[in-house]
Amino acid sequence: MSLKIKLLGVRGSLPTPHTKKERRTFAVELLSKYLDSSDKDIDSFIDSLSHPFLYGLGGNTMCALVKTNETTLLIDGGTGIRNYIDDAMSGPLGRGKGELHIFMTHFHWDHIMGLPFFSPIYIPGNKIHFYAVQPELEDVIKQVFRRPYFPVDFKTLRSSIVFHQVEARKPFKIGDLTVTPYMLDHPDACYGPKITDSRGKTYSHAVDHEAIRMTAKELDEDLPFFQGVDLMLFDAQYSVSEAAEKINWGHSSALKGLKLAEREKIKKIVFAHHDPMHTDMMVQETAEESYVQFQNIVGKDKEVDWELAVEGREFIL
Ligand SMILES: [Zn+2]
Ligand SMILES: [Zn+2]
Repeated sequence: MSLKIKLLGVRGSLPTPHTKKERRTFAVELLSKYLDSSDKDIDSFIDSLSHPFLYGLGGNTMCALVKTNETTLLIDGGTGIRNYIDDAMSGPLGRGKGELHIFMTHFHWDHIMGLPFFSPIYIPGNKIHFYAVQPELEDVIKQVFRRPYFPVDFKTLRSSIVFHQVEARKPFKIGDLTVTPYMLDHPDACYGPKITDSRGKTYSHAVDHEAIRMTAKELDEDLPFFQGVDLMLFDAQYSVSEAAEKINWGHSSALKGLKLAEREKIKKIVFAHHDPMHTDMMVQETAEESYVQFQNIVGKDKEVDWELAVEGREFIL
């Protein structure tokens, strides 16, 4: 029994391929490392490199996979959903015998634009469940599959699609998972799922969250979303100074996440929704600076287990 969380897309707002400049910098660093390396076997040299160095943080927009032996749940349908297609098509979803659950936090473009390209939705026999707190769930998903935005109309999709409107702060079951949606601070209504498996392991998804409410009192009935969770994905789109300028844009900084993680005893926090205007290097430097800043504020003895979200990264709880 395990709870697997796989990050399929971690970029915010817009899919972000590497720029020419980033590719060049990478090529120069890669060749320099190789020339400096005593290991001249290319495959083993490549294997020795870290995932973020070799592949970057990833340019696809938000999508996460949450999986147990029994249940498969996706959170959102950004372009990262394409990273799940091969796995999905090699299993029951490829044979029209699959059942898949998709929880939608909200409907901004970066969270829906992969859905029309998700092949299992076209295969007869598959059952796809969509969940959201927002009552417009069904309307929005139907609009995604509509001309002139997309040539295939929702009515012609051949899988069986079921819409579930769920309630904020009210737990519901998806297979062996218990899912509780909590309100996030975002310009349009947005709910992050807290997901608990049958052993009590918890994953909280706080992406597209500005964290305007920080104190326990402000968070009030949304506080359990943060308390003692095993793994939290947290919106850290901006540096501290950008976040101060972009009030009500709906995104947060690593510093806020670190403070919440320390206070609420979050076991591991992972920073995601990387800004499309930030290079991977900038994202890395901003997060490292935020940790120094955090320790300057709360004390060097306070440690938080954190890392940057990287497309393809898996966590097993
Ligand atoms: Zn977003
Ligand atoms: Zn959003």
